[in-house]
Amino acid sequence: MSVGPDKICGVVARTRHKMMQVELREAAARGAKFLEVRLDFLSKAVDFKRLQAYKGCPWMATFRRPVDGGRWSGSEAERQMVLRQAIVSGVFDWIDLETDVIENIRRFGPVKRVVSYHNMTETPQNLDEIYDKMLTQDADVYKIAVMPKTADDLQRIVEIQKRASKPTVAFAMGEFGFVTRFTALKFGAPWIYGAFNKERGIAPGLPALHEFRTTYPVRAIGPNTKFFALLGDPVGHSYSPILHNHLFRRLKVDAVYVPFRVPDGQLADATDAMNAVPISGYSVTIPHKEAAALRAKEVDPMVHIVGAANTLQARADGTFLAANTDYPAALESLRTHLDAKALSEGVKPPDFSQLFVLVLGAGGAARAIVAALVRAGSSVTITSRTPERATKLAEQIGGKSCDWQARHSIAQCDILINCTPVGMHPKVDESPVHASFLKPGLVVFDTVYNPEHTLLIRDAESRGCTTISGVDMFVRQAAKQFEIFTGIAPPLEDMRELLRKAMSPLTAAMDTEAEKSGGMGEAGENA
Ligand code: NAP
Repeated sequence: MSVGPDKICGVVARTRHKMMQVELREAAARGAKFLEVRLDFLSKAVDFKRLQAYKGCPWMATFRRPVDGGRWSGSEAERQMVLRQAIVSGVFDWIDLETDVIENIRRFGPVKRVVSYHNMTETPQNLDEIYDKMLTQDADVYKIAVMPKTADDLQRIVEIQKRASKPTVAFAMGEFGFVTRFTALKFGAPWIYGAFNKERGIAPGLPALHEFRTTYPVRAIGPNTKFFALLGDPVGHSYSPILHNHLFRRLKVDAVYVPFRVPDGQLADATDAMNAVPISGYSVTIPHKEAAALRAKEVDPMVHIVGAANTLQARADGTFLAANTDYPAALESLRTHLDAKALSEGVKPPDFSQLFVLVLGAGGAARAIVAALVRAGSSVTITSRTPERATKLAEQIGGKSCDWQARHSIAQCDILINCTPVGMHPKVDESPVHASFLKPGLVVFDTVYNPEHTLLIRDAESRGCTTISGVDMFVRQAAKQFEIFTGIAPPLEDMRELLRKAMSPLTAAMDTEAEKSGGMGEAGENA
């Protein structure tokens, strides 16, 4: 039987009673079954009666000090008085009491107790001691929220999750700790916290409630759920979690995929630490692709050629197999479009060895694409804003380099491939080449996928070129990763549609709307 009222605890935190009422009502209307009411956010004296009228599900009262990430600026005596009043008010079903004050406040009636420990700056070395002491205190649920600084901090939190002998919600905060909010559920945490309104800045790394609907299927997380993660820095705006979690749901795979922001140089420590879960596989992105190749015990041949991996699959002994799915995804995108073009023109599809390709950019994406095309026999020219990177890439992988300023005067070009971020959201009115370069018949492949119709793609279409968008490559590389992770080849068209929907301005607007509170004005709230 579950300990709490629900597996999701929505957090409502506003400075005005009126706005708190609106969000409490709105959250219940949207199906919230358990809400934490952050009384410390209220700028005036708490009026329980004003809130009570809006109760639509079980509530937990929390009234935090700044040292625990709260906003209460009055005295500690006053704070404890408000906590006692909350308990006897008959308004709340749960109360959150910090481990150093819980013994001052007696259990009363049916109100259940969370004993909590917060550390907003670190994960103390004596965390196990702190937790063991908490377990002796009179509570129904034990909560630990700490700030991780090292991979070892994450591992210690996971170990606490695993050894919890009483209902415990223990996690590390921030983007580095994000994954542990979810692993807590795997190891039996009664609930996960989610902000009704993420814009309120309630706690570092706190996900938004609506993300549990759009992105993370937390209700399905159980002891057998496998974990996958996107390891990179930054990872916040990636569409990979939406894509992979959707596929897990659709194909009935008991797994979840979460972003894991790991600073440069810490891939090995982070993956070692998370073997405690374990994490079954990673998508790897900037700046870790080279480190991922080195980290693996076994690498697929494409990783060898490219010198970088975008996929790590964990094996039972804790070692990793590295793969590069950008390489085959790019080649497949090109092959599919070249074949379709030839078919429509009634000619024989060209062999890669007949083609002259100009690659813009010399970073990770360019590396995989140049390697694929050089191996396929194409004549590749690389040009990069930083000339040394293009020269180095050509020396290491093949092809030749040319000066960035000379990119428009290249003599022969059948395919132009943009491997720079130029044109990517939000700078959507930029293109890496002048439109006059785009002649009819040229194949233009823009690896940028957000937006799908970049200025380069639009210019190319209007000038009679064949175009390939980054969406096609992105979906193919993700599909190949998914197949490595699960052994299942997912439906590409379904993924394309989902990605387009997730990127559409309409969906983004709906998400922003979901984070607002019932559409009421915010003016003056923090005044
Ligand atoms: P990266 O390793 O950081 O390399 C970026 C390259 O673009 C570098 O050569 C960089 O030159 C150049 N560049 C950056 N800003 C520029 C500018 N304003 N003008 C000219 N050149 C510029 O990144 P990456 O991993 O290769 O990714 C590059 C892009 O490829 C991403 O933004 C993404 O849109 C796309 N991508 C798509 C997929 C897909 O599946 N569709 C997969 C991977 C990547 P400097 O060295 O001078 O900075």
